[in-house]
Amino acid sequence: GDRKVTADMVDMLAKLHFPMCMRNLHNNLQTNHHLKHHGRLQYSLFLKGIGLSVDEALVFWRKGFGASISDDKFNKEYRYNIRHNYGLEGSRKAYQPRSCQAIITQQLSAQDNHGCPFKHFSLDNLVPALRATYNITDHNDLNEITSAVKAQHFHVACTRVFEITHANKGVRKGDGLGNGESVNHPNKYFQRSLEMTE
Ligand code: SF4
Repeated sequence: GDRKVTADMVDMLAKLHFPMCMRNLHNNLQTNHHLKHHGRLQYSLFLKGIGLSVDEALVFWRKGFGASISDDKFNKEYRYNIRHNYGLEGSRKAYQPRSCQAIITQQLSAQDNHGCPFKHFSLDNLVPALRATYNITDHNDLNEITSAVKAQHFHVACTRVFEITHANKGVRKGDGLGNGESVNHPNKYFQRSLEMTE
């Protein structure tokens, strides 16, 4: 859209409107000042989709890496990749933000942070992460989410999180993103959440 998102806005938007896959990547970048390749790709394309321009993306990622790498290393190793994700380098392909289906079906190796937490976290890690990320503490809420995960209905679990975290906007169980629609794209999750505050 025409919305302008700046690097400085990302942290606030993450806390208010990001689905768990992107909150997880955001938190890992802020904490570790690093993301592995596939995590950078998944997060970068999502941020492009929410309206972060390539110039603001370069500011965002430079700050995210922080003092962990030099300007020289950033310019040599990361600038090209970020511009590439925006279709400004190499094949100049217009890469689209990934859908839930694409994210959920990825194979992860150890220490990868990308993917979908509902699919890729163990339940032992998912429940504390739901508390820490969204302050979801109600026993019934947590049960509904973990039951959906156990049934391998990952997008249903994510949709339930959206409903619970937007209950203060009048969203009720079964409403999903609106009219009962379930989550099938992280950028749609973001968009619907943002619309509720506008
Ligand atoms: Fe992200 Fe989709 Fe998984 Fe939700 S269901 S956490 S939006 S990949």
